[in-house]
Amino acid sequence: MSSDPTDNLFKAIDARRDELVELTRALIRFPTVNPPGEGYRPCAEFIGDRLRARGFAVDYVHAVGTPGDDERYPRINVVARRPGKSPGPCVHFNSHIDVVQSGGGWTLDPFAAVVKDGRVYGRGSCDMKGGLAASIIAVEALIESADALPGTLEISGTVDEESGGYGGVHYLAERGWFSPPRVDHVIIPEPLNVDRVCIGHRGVWWAEIETHGRMAHGSMPFLGDCAVRHMHAVVERFERDLYPQLVARRTDMPVVPAGARHSTLNINSIHGGQGEAPGYPAPLVPDSCRMVIDRRLLIEESIDSVKAEVRELLERLVEERAGFRYSIRDIFEVRPTMADRNGLVARSTAAAIRRVLGRDPEFICSPGTYDQKHIDRVGKLRDCIAYGPGILDLAHQPDEYVLIEDMVNSAKVMALAARSLLYGIA
Ligand SMILES: [Zn+2]
Repeated sequence: MSSDPTDNLFKAIDARRDELVELTRALIRFPTVNPPGEGYRPCAEFIGDRLRARGFAVDYVHAVGTPGDDERYPRINVVARRPGKSPGPCVHFNSHIDVVQSGGGWTLDPFAAVVKDGRVYGRGSCDMKGGLAASIIAVEALIESADALPGTLEISGTVDEESGGYGGVHYLAERGWFSPPRVDHVIIPEPLNVDRVCIGHRGVWWAEIETHGRMAHGSMPFLGDCAVRHMHAVVERFERDLYPQLVARRTDMPVVPAGARHSTLNINSIHGGQGEAPGYPAPLVPDSCRMVIDRRLLIEESIDSVKAEVRELLERLVEERAGFRYSIRDIFEVRPTMADRNGLVARSTAAAIRRVLGRDPEFICSPGTYDQKHIDRVGKLRDCIAYGPGILDLAHQPDEYVLIEDMVNSAKVMALAARSLLYGIA
């Protein structure tokens, strides 16, 4: 053995390369598809059994009554905790175990976990079972290669991230599982590329706008009031008044891709008029038209001002457009979050990337959200980042894969960062 503890740690991880691949494959073979939330219990128990055998105390937390939870699809989370030989901080690795539907376009079985050309293929390989496996191997190698670690190591596998995290991290955070003094630093191994430290994400506001009209025979539209035309007026105002403002609003958040360094608004859907059988269009003036908007907000914006901006635009239409009536309904909202890039977890992870990869890391923010929001807003734990293997663009795609080399390197980064945090040398 070399006398350099870091070399020894890296050797311990290199020696586990095949084990890391097999662990990733085993995790992919649980088809934990959400919705509906398939196979959560066996996947959680697989993780729990493994860590219990390595000296962790394991808890299963059933998020009773959260969206989708029932007898068939119970929302089961696993949290494993291992205190060290002396007091110190707690470093927690949190991964979601759910994956999105496999969808079409695959050339390989999405749940067979095929290994080919230095990659592990499968739904969830990139997002984020490769990251989960890397964090488990990192922690196991760290424990083995040090005689007496101070502090506490935790690993969790949580559910429902892909549907908002309410049965997963949100549920746990509400019950103190993600708050100091129980936990001090959190790394979420989401696939954001092996050389990037993700310190936060933009916020979200989803809402449904409905315009109201009056039904009439399609041959005499002047007797009714067309809700679709009113919705067209809304879209026109978005184009004229709102989009130019959103594009002009830039953030200091280092969001990637750079196109997302502005406020954005997507029109997710518009539905108006009566349903129709093929070939039999309904001869009616529509009395309702509904639009779902997806507004992404910046750390510099407040959710209230974002909502007010849209309401004011609609109110102006009430004043200016004959017969314009609307209603608006919130569907979902998440505030933006951003950790301090000079905070302990960001700094120690960045230093570990420099050591393992020999280059400076990039600090980024994610255009979409992930579970950091619940840890920050509900758990009141600020020292949280996302760092993990996997190429962000491959998440949710057909033939999703993770590079084995990236998993090994990220395991080294995670182990080294955790060690620095435990010893307080970040
Ligand atoms: Zn993910």
